Amino acid sequence: MVRVLKVYPETLASELGLREGTELMSINGRSLEDFLDWEFLTAEDWFLLHVRQPDGEEIEFDIERPEGLPMGVELERPRVRRCANRCDFCFVDGLPAGLRETLYIRDDDYRLSFKYGNFATLTNLKPWDVDRIVEYRLSPLYVSVHATDVMARRHVLRNPLAPDIMEQLRHFGSFGIQFHTQIVMSPGVNDGEVLKRTLDDLYGLGASVLNTSVVPVGLTEFSKHHLVREPRAEECRAAIDLLEAKARVARAERGITWAFGADELYLRAGLELPSPEAYDDFQQVENGVGSVRFLQRKIAEHPEGLDQWGGRRVGVLTGSSMAPLMPLVLAPLSEATGAHFELIPLDNSLFGSTVTCAGLLPGSAFQAALRDRSDLDLALIPAESINENGIFMDDLTLDQLIATSPVEIRPSYWFVDALSELPESTQVVRPREFS
Ligand code: SF4
Repeated sequence: MVRVLKVYPETLASELGLREGTELMSINGRSLEDFLDWEFLTAEDWFLLHVRQPDGEEIEFDIERPEGLPMGVELERPRVRRCANRCDFCFVDGLPAGLRETLYIRDDDYRLSFKYGNFATLTNLKPWDVDRIVEYRLSPLYVSVHATDVMARRHVLRNPLAPDIMEQLRHFGSFGIQFHTQIVMSPGVNDGEVLKRTLDDLYGLGASVLNTSVVPVGLTEFSKHHLVREPRAEECRAAIDLLEAKARVARAERGITWAFGADELYLRAGLELPSPEAYDDFQQVENGVGSVRFLQRKIAEHPEGLDQWGGRRVGVLTGSSMAPLMPLVLAPLSEATGAHFELIPLDNSLFGSTVTCAGLLPGSAFQAALRDRSDLDLALIPAESINENGIFMDDLTLDQLIATSPVEIRPSYWFVDALSELPESTQVVRPREFS
């Protein structure tokens, strides 16, 4: 059974009288477990839908779905599949105590991999899940491979029962399912020869593996430092050598780069980032792969009107990891807008200074940095640092941050997305006054 959270007007669901709290029981006699069943089974032209209304009335609808008419329901979120692994570098182990409960959940869910691009390890699949992935053709999936050698992978995942990922990928690949894959590189565990074999094996699976990326392991001060460490510059350079060798083969044979290093890998290696063209279609940009080149491209393709920012002052707040690369983005942004961008790198006051990515910055860090910055016309903060409910890692809300800051704040993914309009305050005479 899946419960309805919301029904949109002028949709099939509203015509049927479905409402908040309606329980969607089955379609064509198949009981519904989650949004996947709902989305795939309602894709038919005709189906029998059995529901239980909030007042307990059970109804069976015989539905012939008019072409193009959306079902129009929002469903309650599925209970997330728990992870079966215990990686030494797990983000959850690296959390300080006292954060909201949901942050301590280790999720590993192929359904969210398909729907949202979350990486999953496929180590917790039941036979029923395997059949479903095939039946519903859940493709592409985002898979954390880490290593194709079974023992090395079990070591990385700290899971002695982890199945052979190559067998799994081969099986799904034989049904046309494709994968974006990643390797979180832990030095001494899955770099060097293990990494080389992993790249060879994944590339050998042909078209089913769309690409792979290497992301250096990232730790907090609460992580298991006695078991795992971050890679050194020479280890990152060695990984990049392997990736670039594989990319040369892929370009010659398939016309794509296929093997990528995260920006962080290049940064730690002390090497220049690849050119924008080397990132194919930026398919792993949300994994930190090609983020800087992607931002540069977005600026180059910017919509008209950015020059209205001429002479204004914009603060760009970010994690310290991106700070060394930010001039590569802010220089073209200044040129396109005429504004002065001030880079404000922040230390992570919640996780410790070793956590340098923007997405994990707490609201209090932004609050402290902006408290006295009424000289700015606008402050851009990374949109990844708030969740879909507008809450930072430390439970401060975006609204609270805005209310306590003397400068307009806008969350932004790629800068130009937040610069379409001037701040209200700067369309009138400055300076502003704050109580
Ligand atoms: S797969 Fe590893 S890193 Fe991911 S949630 Fe599980 S234990 Fe943590």
